[in-house]
Amino acid sequence: MLSVLDLFRIGIGPSSSHTLGPIRIAKRFLDENRNDLDRIARIEAELQGSLALTGKGHATPKAVMLGLCGVEPETLDSDEADRMVERIAQSKRLSLLATREIEFDPERDIVFAYHVMPDLHPNGMKLSAFDANGALLAEQTYYSTGGGFIATERQLRTPAKNDRVTSTHSVPFPFGSGAELLAHCARENASIEDIVYANEDAMRPRAETDARLDRVTAVMAACIDRGLVREGVLPGALKVTRRAPAIWRQLQAHPNANEPERLFDWLNVYAMAVNEENAAGGQVVTAPTNGAAGILPSILRHYCLNGNAPQRDARRFLLTAGGIGLLYKQRASISGAEMGCQGEVGVACSMAGAGLSAVWGGTPQQVANAAEIGMEHNLGLTCDPVGGLVQVPCIERNAVGSVKAVNAARLSLHSSDPSKVSLDQVIETMRQTGIDMSSKYKETSQGGLAVNVVEC
Ligand code: SF4
Repeated sequence: MLSVLDLFRIGIGPSSSHTLGPIRIAKRFLDENRNDLDRIARIEAELQGSLALTGKGHATPKAVMLGLCGVEPETLDSDEADRMVERIAQSKRLSLLATREIEFDPERDIVFAYHVMPDLHPNGMKLSAFDANGALLAEQTYYSTGGGFIATERQLRTPAKNDRVTSTHSVPFPFGSGAELLAHCARENASIEDIVYANEDAMRPRAETDARLDRVTAVMAACIDRGLVREGVLPGALKVTRRAPAIWRQLQAHPNANEPERLFDWLNVYAMAVNEENAAGGQVVTAPTNGAAGILPSILRHYCLNGNAPQRDARRFLLTAGGIGLLYKQRASISGAEMGCQGEVGVACSMAGAGLSAVWGGTPQQVANAAEIGMEHNLGLTCDPVGGLVQVPCIERNAVGSVKAVNAARLSLHSSDPSKVSLDQVIETMRQTGIDMSSKYKETSQGGLAVNVVEC
C-alpha cells in the first residue's frame, strides 16, 4: 500500500504533474547517476506530450532547472526558487545538485517535443547527460503520473497486483477497492480513519504520522492566509486579477452577518486563496494535485479548524480523505493529462466529501457514499486550461468543487443504505471516461475553453 501522506506532498505551484513531478524527475536522474556527476558537461531535458503542450504555462522549464540544482520541494522557498531560475537564465550556468557548475542554456537544453505523445503516460520527460566530448553518459525517460508521483518506464510496465500500487510496505489492512475497505471496517468494527491509521502505523510511529498530518494542516492553513491578503495580478499572459482578497475584505466587513448564502463565500474564498497562491507559484500541498489543491483546505479550514477539536477533526478529515484518494490512485489515476479534470477536481471533491462526512459522524458506508456522490457529479469534467495556465477554469473550479463536496457530505448523512452506484463503480466509470476522452480535453490546451477564450 501507498501511504496517505504520499497524496499530501508539500511543494510549489502551479502544477503537481508539470512542476512538482519534473522537479523530482530531474533530481532523481542525477541521483541515479551520481557516479558520473564529475563527467557531466551537458544535460538535455526533452518534454513530451502534455509536459510539452502546457509546460510553459505550468512552469515546467523552471521545475527542470530547480530539480537539476537538487532542491527539496518541501523546503523550497518560492521567492528563492524564482531567483535561482533567474540567475540560471542570466548566467547560462547551473549547479548540478548544488555541487558542480555546468553550462546550461534553457532555450537550448530544454526541448519541447510537441510531436511526441508517449504511449505509457502523456507526461513524458527524457533526460540525457553528455560528457565534454558530447558522448552520451546516461539517458532515461520518466513519467510524471499526477500528484507529484513519478515513475520510470519499467515501473509503469510492472503490473499492479489486484489494483494495488507496488510498494515495499506491508500493512495489516491492505485494500485495493472500496468494497475491501468497507469489509475491513465491518470486520474490525472500525472507521475508515482507524483502518488507515493502522496501515500508517505499519510504516512509521504514530507520533510521526500525526506530526506530518499536522504539518500538512499548517501548510494548508498558511497558504490560505497568504492568499487572502496578497493582491495583484497572477503571472502569465491572461493577466488574471486575484479575487480572494476582495471577497475576504467583504466578509471581514460584516463578520456577524449570517445569511445562509454566505457559506458559499467562506468556502469560495478559502479555495480561491489557495489556488491563486498555487497559480503564483507559492507553497501548496497536493490534495491530491496542485490544480485541485484548494478544495480540501477550504473544507478543513471552515469545518475542522473553526471547531471545538480542530486537531482531532483535521487528522480525521485528512486520513479519511486520504484513504479514499488512495483508491483513485490505485484503481484509476489522479492525472489531468490521463483523466481530464474529473481526475483532479473530481477526485478532490470526492475525497473532501468523504472526509467531511467522517468529521460529521458518518458511518463508513455513509463516508463511501459521500465519496461516490462527490465523483458521480464530476464525471466527464474536462481539463482545458486557458493559455496553458492553471488559472481559468481551475481557480473557480476549486471554489465550486468545495461547495459540491459539502453537499455530497450532507446527502450522505440522510441514508444509511449503500448508494445505488457504489464507490468502486464510480471510480471505474471515471477511469473508462478518462480513457475515452479526447486528448484535446486532457491538459493539452487544444480544446474546450482553451480554444474558445482568446488570450490577450
Ligand atoms: S482544468 Fe482541472 S485538471 Fe486541468 S489544469 Fe485546471 S485544475 Fe488541473
